[in-house]
Amino acid sequence: MIRKKGKKTWASSKRQKMVRTVGNCLHCDKEITNDMSFIIYATKKPSHYSCYKTEAEKEQNAKSR
Ligand SMILES: [Zn+2]
Repeated sequence: MIRKKGKKTWASSKRQKMVRTVGNCLHCDKEITNDMSFIIYATKKPSHYSCYKTEAEKEQNAKSR
């Protein structure tokens, strides 16, 4: 009896998403994982993209006054 090797069990594990923590958000201080959209500042501090946008809008409003 010949047994075929290589059942490709790894194929299913390959589907698993590699979720890694990026760090805490500069603005809301919540954890950011790499399955979210985020940005990293020049200061190497990460931020949610949504938080970054909110902050950018705030700044723009302050400037336009
Ligand atoms: Zn945030």
